[in-house]
Amino acid sequence: MAENVPETDVIVVGAGPVGLFALFELGMLKLSAAIVDALAMPGGQCAALYPEKPIYDIPGYPVIQAGTLVEQLVRQAEPFRPQYHLGRQVTGLQRQADGRWLLETSQGERLLATAVVIAAGAGAFGPNRPPLPQIERYEGREDGTGVHYLVRRREDFRGKRLVIAGGGDSALDWAHSLADLAQRIYVVHRRAQFRAAPESVARLHAMAADPAGPVELVIPYQLAGLEGEDRRLQAVIVQTLEGQARRLPADALLAFFGLSMNLGPIADWGLALEKQHIVVDPATCETSVPGIFAIGDIATYPRKLKLILSGFAEAAQAAHAIHPLCRPGEVLHWEYSTTKGVPAAAAAE
Ligand code: FAD
Repeated sequence: MAENVPETDVIVVGAGPVGLFALFELGMLKLSAAIVDALAMPGGQCAALYPEKPIYDIPGYPVIQAGTLVEQLVRQAEPFRPQYHLGRQVTGLQRQADGRWLLETSQGERLLATAVVIAAGAGAFGPNRPPLPQIERYEGREDGTGVHYLVRRREDFRGKRLVIAGGGDSALDWAHSLADLAQRIYVVHRRAQFRAAPESVARLHAMAADPAGPVELVIPYQLAGLEGEDRRLQAVIVQTLEGQARRLPADALLAFFGLSMNLGPIADWGLALEKQHIVVDPATCETSVPGIFAIGDIATYPRKLKLILSGFAEAAQAAHAIHPLCRPGEVLHWEYSTTKGVPAAAAAE
């Protein structure tokens, strides 16, 4: 048995929007929680990939920026005083003799809980990087030059010459969004057809048709190389399948080829998996291992919708299924939040 290890009722793995809302739902049932995330800040994909993008399908908010949604979720969970352990990956999970779970992080911490909620999204997610020689030389610059896989601050790209690569919604959304800031935008895609929403594709073609506008479509071309000096990007080389090349003068390459899903250590925890997702019973969000639950993007069941709002509902399902494990014999009387309010004990101080 682990001794002198911090204990909570529940450990949430992943502080994306869904893990954050789980803190609230658990708190409303008077269950204590700790949350662990590999990233240094809460918010998961919303914070790491698109903090300045507007989201339109959060109930009750006709539009809300992803970063603001994260701030609100953190605020909503605050009365329950969850313990945050950010900037560390969950590496190990072992069941103890008394049935509780001992979790280990990459920083060597150990945490103990009766139940575990995995809200790890795309796992230890990372962007799909185009296979260009020496691409890493141009990554990680904070001044809007070089190679980027997400836009943290639109302003960084003001006045820049950009190559946006990819044919999906992210590539097109950013081409639209940066068109009023950038000096020039080349949209490079290997096919003439885009995989984005039809209105978005129509809007892109309209922008590219304006000879005075900044947008040029470079299709069907794919990325072939990068040119620069002293780690400063100067041009992106693209070519057709037939090998016909073009040199696009550029300060930055924004490559949007999706996220690679990598469960990392979670894959070794003996949970039933399906295509890199954790199989759960949608009524409870319990996995194939009793006491371990999964919610949000990482969880799968028939007709699952990978949306933040589905993850919010799953957080509520899981919290209610976890309550009897943490408080055996205690009857949970059903109450709306309007009746219950935020529990006084938690809100006090
Ligand atoms: P995530 O947000 O992926 O968070 C999971 C967290 O778990 C991450 O922070 C990760 O670091 C952490 N983690 C993973 N493994 C470990 C580990 N072993 N140890 C510690 N931490 C770990 N959805 C919508 O509903 N509406 C939209 O309009 C919308 N727009 C989008 C636009 C873009 C550009 C993108 C990329 C996504 C969009 N989505 C949208 C999808 C939405 O962002 C996801 O559905 C949502 O983020 C899933 O939340 P989550 O909490 O399940 O996982």
